[in-house]
Parts: sequence; C-alpha cells; structure tokens
Amino acid sequence: MGNKRDLENLKEELSVTALKSIPKPLLTWYDEKRRILPWREEPTPYRVWVSEIMLQQTRVEAVKPYYERFMKTLPDVPALAQAQEEVLLKLWEGLGYYNRVRNLQKAAKVLCETYGGKMPADYDALLSLPGIGSYTAGAIASIAFGIPKPAVDGNVLRVLARVRADERCISEEKVKLAVSAELEQAMPKNRPGDFNQAMMEIGALTCTPNGAPHCDECPLQSLCKAHALGKETDYPVKAAKKARQIEDKTVLILRDEGRIALRKRPAKGLLASMYEFPCLPGKVSSDEVLRFLSENGLKVLRIQPLGEAKHIFTHKEWHMQGYLIRVDELDRGDRSTSLRDWIYIEPAETRERYPIPSAYEFYAKELSMLRGRNIFLEDEQK
Ligand code: SF4
Repeated sequence: MGNKRDLENLKEELSVTALKSIPKPLLTWYDEKRRILPWREEPTPYRVWVSEIMLQQTRVEAVKPYYERFMKTLPDVPALAQAQEEVLLKLWEGLGYYNRVRNLQKAAKVLCETYGGKMPADYDALLSLPGIGSYTAGAIASIAFGIPKPAVDGNVLRVLARVRADERCISEEKVKLAVSAELEQAMPKNRPGDFNQAMMEIGALTCTPNGAPHCDECPLQSLCKAHALGKETDYPVKAAKKARQIEDKTVLILRDEGRIALRKRPAKGLLASMYEFPCLPGKVSSDEVLRFLSENGLKVLRIQPLGEAKHIFTHKEWHMQGYLIRVDELDRGDRSTSLRDWIYIEPAETRERYPIPSAYEFYAKELSMLRGRNIFLEDEQK
C-alpha cells in the first residue's frame, strides 16, 4: 500500500517537474508575440470577466466587435445588473450560448447585493458566482488580481497533454482537476496572469487543435514529448463524442406590405426567450406550406424557396429549409390557433430589439434584416 502511494507521489512530482520548465520560454515568447487585444490593455476584473465568457464560445477576432459594443452599453457591473433582458440578448445576438449572458447578469446582481458592485479579489468567492467555473475564476483571479491560480480550458489541456505525452483522458473531470492542481504548483507566482494568457495564446496560435500544430514556431518544442515522438496529433486523448440529434425544420419568412412575422421562443430550454421566424416541423413542400397558411387564414401572393441551411448546437443540429412568402395582410391570420404566438414587426425594429439567434442567420441575411435595410423599398425597385 505504502509503495503504491509512493509511486503515485513520484508520478505527480515528475508531472509537476515537467511543467516547471514551461514558464520561462513561454513567457519570453509571449512578451514578443502576444496579440494586442482590447481586454488585455486595461484588464479590470469586469473587462476580463466579460471577455473570458465571450471567448469561451467564439474566436478572438469575432469577439472584438461584440466586446466593444457590450462595454459601451454596459460599462460596469451595476449597468449589467440593471439591463433589460432584451438588451442583453440583443448584445449577445450571434454569439450563441445565451445562458451565459443570463448568468453574467445573475452574477452581476449578486455582486451588487453582496460586494458593492465590485468583483471580489478572492478565487473561491469568484467561483461561487453564477456562471463562473474554475477556468473563468482562475482567469479573473490571475489576470485582474495577480492571484496565482491556473485557468485550465481545452486549449491548455491540449498543450500540456502534448508537452508531456500525457495518456490521461482529458474528457474526465478528475483528469482536469489533477492537471489544474499540477499546473498550480508549477506556475510562476510573479506573473500568473501573463502565464495563463500565454498558455491560452499558444493553444490558439501555435499548438492548434485541428490539423498539425505549428511546432516549428513553438517555444516549447525542445520540452515537448509528443513532438519528440512525432505524435503531436495523438494527443490529447479524448472520449468519443456522442452523435448529435438531428432536427429538420422549415423556416417561414413571412411578410406583408410593411412587416414580417416573428415569434418568441419559450422562456426555458434552447435559445430561451429569443425571437425566431415561424417554423414548421420537418422539411415540408411549398404546397404543404401554402395549405398550412391558407388553413390559418393567410392569403399568399407569392412563395419563393430560399434554400437549405444547417446550424450546429452542442447536442443538436438543425437542418433547415426556408421560404420567403409574401402575404396580403398578416393581420388576417387566425390568431386563435397555430399563429397565436406570432408578432408582426417592421424589419428595422430588429436592429435594437427582438434578438434573433444566429441559427437563422442564413435566412435573416436574405432579408437584410439584421442590417435594418428597408427590404420593402428594395422590393419595389426590382
Ligand atoms: Fe504543441 Fe508542437 Fe509545441 Fe508540442 S512542439 S507544444 S505539439 S506546438
């Protein structure tokens, strides 16, 4: 028994020793190569927090305009706590994972009630806030407060698995916890924020996930076991993903002379409380669409297929086809049954209100809705 524990301790020690060689070359590389990013230049706790939540779902370049707009509209924790839900969802429109912005607001409310509207300089207190897990708590603690806590996400797990040719499966929670504990022992106490950002940066720029990593440009090349073995892409070891559920649907872009039809999604579940175009389940023919609309009192003047689109969520895929349909008057529709939750609005109103998920981007683009152009005027000019 004692021998087994000794062996485990020895293994852990070796793992940590391998990590201790990383900070020096990594930080030298980071000082030279780091990208200038808006949230890096003035890393207040609030700015780090919002940027990290946004970056969990999208690439850096795509996040920049969202981040700037968010900061301009909601510059601090109290502004976030008081924002209306539609404003919040509109600011997040296109980023996906809308529960993340809802949790941002929940946490902002807690911060206002408990911490005077400021973020606490305490890792455990940060971790207790809604929507803040160990990665985000580590990022805020280290970058904004200089607290030596690691921020371990998929990028960091990948880099470390390759450097150590680590056979442990990174899909397992216990492995993530172990790697995090090992990294905490090895990270530099004088520059924890830079170290965490450098780990994220090398994962994003050099030790990339898809295809071969850029080992020739990597400051960790001489330490990297996977590279020495020529087996970079064998790491990290991950559990096979479960197949996503496929959902077919038909998207109806319905308009009359001045308005389009939208409906609000339920308050719970996928894309909760967002607005969407009315849809029919399955991929249905134009005749079936016409029958549905006529049964519900709408007189169709023209119907035009808009093609197919796909949107991938974490556990689900929407396979869509769409129609652009001109009706004489949306108000004629029978609101007592299938159309009861529809609303009729001018397209320009979607600029400020009515957040529409990016799942519908293909169809929203057709209408130039998201840019708020006057589609009806364009229609007349054709
Ligand atoms: Fe990744 Fe290659 Fe660098 Fe190893 S040498 S950490 S595999 S980029």
